[in-house]
Amino acid sequence: MNSTSETAWIVERATTLGFDLCGVVRAENFPELELTTEWLARGYAGEMKYLSDERRASPQSVMTGLGSAIVCALNYNFSEPRSIDALQLEGTEPRGWISRYAWGQDYHEVLQQKLRSLASCLPERFAEPHEARIYADTGPVHERVFAKHAGLGWLGKNTLLLNAKLGSWFFLGVILTTLDIPPTLGPAESPPPDLCGSCTKCIDACPTGALVEPYVMDARLCISYLTIELRGSIPEALREPMDRHVFGCDICQDVCPWNRRSPITEAKEFQPRVFPRLAEGPSPELAAPATAGADEESLFLPRLEWLAALNEEQFRAMFSGSPVKRTKWRGLVRNACIALGNSAPALDSRRYESICTLLTRLSSSSEPAIAESAQWALSRIQ
Ligand code: SF4
Repeated sequence: MNSTSETAWIVERATTLGFDLCGVVRAENFPELELTTEWLARGYAGEMKYLSDERRASPQSVMTGLGSAIVCALNYNFSEPRSIDALQLEGTEPRGWISRYAWGQDYHEVLQQKLRSLASCLPERFAEPHEARIYADTGPVHERVFAKHAGLGWLGKNTLLLNAKLGSWFFLGVILTTLDIPPTLGPAESPPPDLCGSCTKCIDACPTGALVEPYVMDARLCISYLTIELRGSIPEALREPMDRHVFGCDICQDVCPWNRRSPITEAKEFQPRVFPRLAEGPSPELAAPATAGADEESLFLPRLEWLAALNEEQFRAMFSGSPVKRTKWRGLVRNACIALGNSAPALDSRRYESICTLLTRLSSSSEPAIAESAQWALSRIQ
């Protein structure tokens, strides 16, 4: 690794701010960015039109005078069980899965705050006038590719950035700057080698076959896309494989051997939110990161009946400042209905009647995707 005093100073500052990894790279047209064009041409991006922004393939077009990129990673892993284990736990009520990254505070906000702090330190070390812009899944920047070339890891067969120490449970953020900072990797160094080897656990475990070949995902089949990005109805053939996922999917990370020993984060912001179980709905000001008790609702293994019964106002209050708000109320209720339809074998007889009543009410919702999903669920459990 290139250990110039400037890069070492930036990495040290990033660590002080709580980042787990940091690297610097000169912003170039990395070869992986060109592959995105073919991926898009195959239609794999589905409705995610923002991915076809041409600036994503050419970092220089994002910022005039762009010199370097500072890439930071923030661990969000907690000790809660993996989805593939947790969803097997027998409970008295059907429960769903919200992706690990979305249990707590919105990562965009947390990352942006830390990146802003890091960018504001730069004038202490770099006297020349410069510009710096921050990106945390918020602009036409392919963070994973920058991270690879900054020496933070390799792009795995599940398409995520893998790091030999952290695994893949981390967020990535980037500072683009007009400064020309010596890169972390020296001129004779390459990015970390691909350590996936002959392992195909992620490809084999994906319930919808979204990893169509190693390193290539058809996002239209991915449960994360279906539950978060797709508006309208979920294709019928994919509803059963969705199982009880209501927001995102962690399966290809859960099975990855590189995540077996992933460290637990110290970032309390990402702990699962819990809410008091109130008949009239949760109050956001009472939400606190803690372990859910018997009279509480949690975003870790949330009760499906609770999610499906939320009204739009309750959804807005509860998911303010949470990544879950991206799927919007109608998306979450749609997903919860499908998950209830996939819960039939585990349905507790005490809950069965009230769930059927709820689904019957939702099957006449003015939101077509909710109505249709509720009808589908009823046809599965009645
Ligand atoms: Fe498949 Fe889930 Fe991974 Fe998407 S997130 S590729 S559905 S295992």
